[in-house]
Amino acid sequence: SRALVWMRRDLRCDDHAALYHALRRFEQVYCVFVFDTDILDLMPTREDRRVDFIHASVQALDEDLRQLAAGSGTPGAGLLVRHGSAAQEVVQLAQALAVQEVLTNRDYEPEAIARDARVAGDLQAAGIAFSDYKDQVLLDRDEVLTQQGHPYSVFTPYKRAWLQKLDAFQCQAYPVARYAGHLAALPQGEAIPSLADLGFAPSNLASLKIPTGSRGAQQLLQDFLPRMAAYQEARDFPAVKGVSYLSVHLRFGTVSIRQLAALAVAQARTGCEGAQTWLSELAWRDFYAMILWHHPQVVTQSFRPIYDKVQWDDAPELWQAWCEARTGYPLVDAAMRQLLQTGYMHNRLRMVVASFLTKDLGIDWRAGERFFAQHLNDYDLSSNNGGWQWAASTGCDAQPWFRIFNPITQSERFDPDGKFIRRYLPELAKVPDRYIHFPAAMKPLEQQACGLQLGRDYPQPVVDHGRARERTLMRFHFMKNPD
Ligand code: FAD
Repeated sequence: SRALVWMRRDLRCDDHAALYHALRRFEQVYCVFVFDTDILDLMPTREDRRVDFIHASVQALDEDLRQLAAGSGTPGAGLLVRHGSAAQEVVQLAQALAVQEVLTNRDYEPEAIARDARVAGDLQAAGIAFSDYKDQVLLDRDEVLTQQGHPYSVFTPYKRAWLQKLDAFQCQAYPVARYAGHLAALPQGEAIPSLADLGFAPSNLASLKIPTGSRGAQQLLQDFLPRMAAYQEARDFPAVKGVSYLSVHLRFGTVSIRQLAALAVAQARTGCEGAQTWLSELAWRDFYAMILWHHPQVVTQSFRPIYDKVQWDDAPELWQAWCEARTGYPLVDAAMRQLLQTGYMHNRLRMVVASFLTKDLGIDWRAGERFFAQHLNDYDLSSNNGGWQWAASTGCDAQPWFRIFNPITQSERFDPDGKFIRRYLPELAKVPDRYIHFPAAMKPLEQQACGLQLGRDYPQPVVDHGRARERTLMRFHFMKNPD
């Protein structure tokens, strides 16, 4: 018997749900990854850190599959790699290989669900079965419901129920290696296309030294494990190495969520607050995936429909200033530079810049969400949408509409000595500490003393926070009498 495992955002071969089930049930198992032109063709540029990351991770996965098979005495296995419309390529390949079933790990995004339904239909017409497995998250779809059987829309009770359900079984790794003898040898002449074959140029991923593939993920994990206990205190300070930086690996599945949860649960049980808080972050990830699955309309609409009454401003100049890190608020600008230069942005800063765009500049959260989607290495529809709707106060369990971050006090609290700001805004390197959070407060002589001319070397603030705050309260005023 034969099967094909279609890999998408699960680029590893250890603890892999679909691969495990295929190997257990079938004698010969092939694995395929498709560089999907239905997605790639829509990308605005031909240089993209994510494509680089995937390409490097696909090469590593091919190597890992080869080793796994060789270790089981079945050499010649590896990863089949295609470049084309995934929906078509997978069906054609399944037919060419004469498999009985295509197995894959489940996706929760509306477009992916629709694509998979099409593929399942086409396969069925060819007499081939299609099955999908939970792998991307710990608990999915209807696994965590309220006592009335409804999906949660508030995080804290969701997390309580989620923690209760998260037992040893849910965190257990799938023992793929045990059945690796069923990996099938690849047909002759298979090769992985180069980045250039895909029509892409290398990005700066390698020079950023972002580790790729399963090995890269394990490297980051080993680096984080001794820091997990301090996560609680360190996680909010972007200048400090306080977080795991594993998000891009979770995005592309080069690490198993079960492995991370098992480690966090074990430490959390010892009363370690850092581990408990980190586990909560993994719960947020499941929560937003669950929300997207139950409420696919959030892709374009506010989770709470009443918030679609908000009249956002059309402010192209302010929008450009935000995108180009020229707002005159150093923490916001440093964060946007971090995003543009590296494709990563610290969580605290994602909240700050999202709040700034929506509540200081009055611009629709959907514009910011799209911008993040283009630039984040770890871009994930459910977490990104959840994060933006949280900051804009339109989401489930969001920041209340009348709570508006002050970009200066956020900066004073979370980058107290301006270390992060100076890293990304070298033009402010010589600005004294007491002005680093808001250089616009400097008098001309003080500017001269540190060799900075506002308006020339660094922008004047594009808005006054106090006035912007008032405007936002007015914008949401209808919420005082929502009916
Ligand atoms: P850690 O602090 O080490 O956390 C571990 C993991 O938990 C993360 O890798 C991530 O998978 C998960 N996680 C942490 N915080 C959150 C959260 N608030 N919501 C959901 N999952 C979380 N995360 C993404 O993975 N992709 C996105 O596109 C994304 N967009 C965001 C947009 C906004 C406006 C906001 C406020 C947050 C967004 N986040 C997103 C969540 C969070 O900022 C990142 O997951 C985190 O910064 C990644 O860094 P890390 O891996 O070092 O996180």
